[in-house]
Amino acid sequence: MSFVWTLAEQHGGRLKDVSFELLSRGRALADKLDTKLASVVIGDGVSPEQLEALIRRGADEVYAIMDPRLAHFVCETYSNILSHLVKTYQPTIILAAATSMGRTVMPHVAVRVHTGLTADCTELDIEPGTGNLLQTRPAIGGNIMATIKTPQHRPQMATVRPKSSRPLPEDATRVGKVIEVPLIESLIDERVRVTGYRTDTADFVNLEEADVVIAGGRGMKKAEHFGMLHDIAGVFGGVVGASRDAIDRGWLGYSHQIGLSGKTISPRLILTAGISGSIQFLAGIKTSETIVSINTDPDAGLHKVADFGIVGDLFEVLPELQRRLHEHAAAPPAATTATADDERPDERQREERV
Ligand SMILES: Cc1cc2nc3c(=O)[nH]c(=O)nc-3n(C[C@H](O)[C@H](O)[C@H](O)COP(=O)(O)OP(=O)(O)OC[C@H]3O[C@@H](n4cnc5c(N)ncnc54)[C@H](O)[C@@H]3O)c2cc1C
Repeated sequence: MSFVWTLAEQHGGRLKDVSFELLSRGRALADKLDTKLASVVIGDGVSPEQLEALIRRGADEVYAIMDPRLAHFVCETYSNILSHLVKTYQPTIILAAATSMGRTVMPHVAVRVHTGLTADCTELDIEPGTGNLLQTRPAIGGNIMATIKTPQHRPQMATVRPKSSRPLPEDATRVGKVIEVPLIESLIDERVRVTGYRTDTADFVNLEEADVVIAGGRGMKKAEHFGMLHDIAGVFGGVVGASRDAIDRGWLGYSHQIGLSGKTISPRLILTAGISGSIQFLAGIKTSETIVSINTDPDAGLHKVADFGIVGDLFEVLPELQRRLHEHAAAPPAATTATADDERPDERQREERV
C-alpha cells in the first residue's frame, strides 16, 4: 500500500495557505496511485476546525503532533518527529513547500531515512507502469526542465514552490480521520531553544500573500523612481516587487524579488514596468490572474504573456496612471443603475481597458 503525505505549515496556531496548496498537488498524485493522502501537522494550538479544513481540502487523514515546544520550527526536533513518522508509517511520497521550513527540514529528513529529494519542483506526476514520482524542476540556470526519479529508495521526497498551485475548493461532504499522535519526549532536541524572534527588517515584504503587486525592473533606471510604484501599490493596498536586475542594483531588498531565484507569486493583479520578461522572471508570475506590462519595446517577452500590454515610456505612463488613480480615489462613488450589461462586469471592464 502506498501513501502520499504533505507537510502542512502553521504559524501561531494558524495553518498557512501553502498547506492547502500542497494538498491539491498531493490529491492528484494519490488519485493516480489510487491511494490515501495524509497531511502531517507539527506545531501547537492548531484548532480541530483547522485540522478538519485539511480534510475538506483534499486530505483523507491528518496526523497532528501538537505541543507548546513545537510552536516554532526547530529543524532538529521537526526532523526527529518527521523521520520517526516516516519509519513508522512508511509513506511512498512526501511533499513539502519550498519555504524556509520545507527547504531546511526536508534535506535533513532525506539523509536520516536514506532517500533522495528534489527541491523546487514545478511539476509532479506519476510514471505509468512503475508508479514512480516524476519530479520536474528547472535546471542549468533555468534553461532546461529536468525530470528526476527516485526509483530505488522510498519515500520519494520533493519540495514545491508556494503559490505554484491553487488549493482545491472546500468540500464539506469529504470525510477523513484526524489522528492525534502523542509527542515522544526523546524526539525533542534539547540543544536548540528558541529564545525570541526577529520581526524582520523594515524593507521586508510578503509578496506571496499579496493580491496586488506593482513590479519594476531595470527600465526604472534608479531606486528613487520606485516611489511611483509604491504610490500605485498603496492605492490598491498592494506591495512592490522587482526583477532580479533591479534587486542586484540594490534598488530594493531581496524580499521583493520575483522569479526563479526569488518568489513565486499568484496575485489577482501584477503590473510590471520596465521588465523585459526573461524566462526566470516569468517562472515567478505564471499563475497570476491578470498581468499588465508597460514597456517601450513592443516585442518584450512580458507583452506576449500580458493580458494588457502598454507599449510606452513608463516615465509617461506611470505618472498618468498615478494621476487617474488618485482622481478616481478622491471622487465620490457614482450612483449605478443595473442594466443587462452588469451581468458580465468583467468582460465590460476588459473591453473598456482595451
Ligand atoms: C540562474 C538564474 C536565475 C535568475 N533568477 C531570476 C529571478 O528570480 N528573477 C528575475 O527577474 N531574473 C532572474 N534572472 C535574471 C534574468 O535572466 C534577467 O536578467 C532579468 O530578469 C532581467 O531583468 P529586467 O527585465 O529588469 O531587465 P532587462 O532584461 O534589461 O529589461 C529591462 C526592460 O525595460 C524596458 N525599458 C527600458 N526603459 C524603459 C522605459 N523608459 N519605459 C518602459 N520600458 C523601458 C526595456 O525595453 C527592457 O525590456 C536569473 C538568471 C539566472 C541565470
